[in-house]
Amino acid sequence: MNIYGKTLKDLETYFTLIGEKKFKAIQVYDWLYKKRVNSFDEMTNVKKLVIEKLKEDFSINKLNILKVQNGKNVHKYLFELEDGNKIEAVLMNHDYGNSLCVSTQVGCNMGCGFCESGRLKKVRNLETYEMVSQILIVEEIQKIRISHVVLMGIGEPFDNYDNVMKFIDIINDDHGIAIGARHITVSTCGIVPKIREFTKEKRQVNLAISLHAPNDEIRNKIMKINKVYPLKEVMKAVRDYLKENHRKITFEYIMLKDVNDGDECALELANLLKGLTAYVNLIPYNETSHIEFKKTDRDKIMRFYDILKKNKINVTVRKEFGSEVSAACGQLRSNFEEGK
Ligand code: SAH
Repeated sequence: MNIYGKTLKDLETYFTLIGEKKFKAIQVYDWLYKKRVNSFDEMTNVKKLVIEKLKEDFSINKLNILKVQNGKNVHKYLFELEDGNKIEAVLMNHDYGNSLCVSTQVGCNMGCGFCESGRLKKVRNLETYEMVSQILIVEEIQKIRISHVVLMGIGEPFDNYDNVMKFIDIINDDHGIAIGARHITVSTCGIVPKIREFTKEKRQVNLAISLHAPNDEIRNKIMKINKVYPLKEVMKAVRDYLKENHRKITFEYIMLKDVNDGDECALELANLLKGLTAYVNLIPYNETSHIEFKKTDRDKIMRFYDILKKNKINVTVRKEFGSEVSAACGQLRSNFEEGK
């Protein structure tokens, strides 16, 4: 078991079980996340006997870094996991802070037609420590503090629900990495039962829904998951979430040329979202050589934006960060595999 996969509560239980005081958990957390040591031996206020026990029961390894690509305000990292699988994380320097886009699975089974990550089917879920490690390593390499985390890398967070929730607990813990809940965003393609489970937990973290289409006809064509959980069910789960959580929700909408970017789509979208405390994030599509979808021209994106605005929908256009460093999800990994 890797120590970076343990919540503070897990460690408290552990120490109680081995007959030690549970406050030791806070001491260990302090060494891991505040002082950032790399070995148990460095935990000098923990007695020898306990250190030996920790060494016996836990590993303290982080991920290997294979490649870093630096752009102007964007940095991309390719990691190797202990079993040789590869995943990515992307750091974006915004004026409000540093945001890290974290992967949650090796590959993805959701099968969205425009997405590079999904070309590799899911190999396995990431363990909690593998997600925590992405943050620790990037902070170490860049010598910065990450202020925001978005679960928008490779994988579907709600298809790895338990590990992802543990990850959130660890990074949100004041004794851990201490990233505020409102600075953490979970993004899902719309797995309805998990949206409902998440609703019940009443967490303060942000929820984003990858909508990408205003109706079933278009959504079925580009997102396989819509055949399992059609738009109507997703929207019902969203309305229930908003009722119970009094939070805002974000809808991500990738602009795909001649697929979902027409005036009539904008109007239909405005209608769909009318009255919800939500906002729409229009995403300029990051083209990839393997997939035939093209990006919508800037003018047309702004036209779509204007229609939503006129219809009183809160809307922003996502800043384009990644194209210079192949930042569309999964691109770095697949380029690497192809020897580029
Ligand atoms: N599976 C989750 C989270 C990972 S994808 C989800 O679907 O939300 C994170 C976001 O990036 C999603 O909105 C996804 O649709 C989007 N995305 C995928 N490929 C992209 C590309 N080539 N360009 C721009 N956004 C992309």
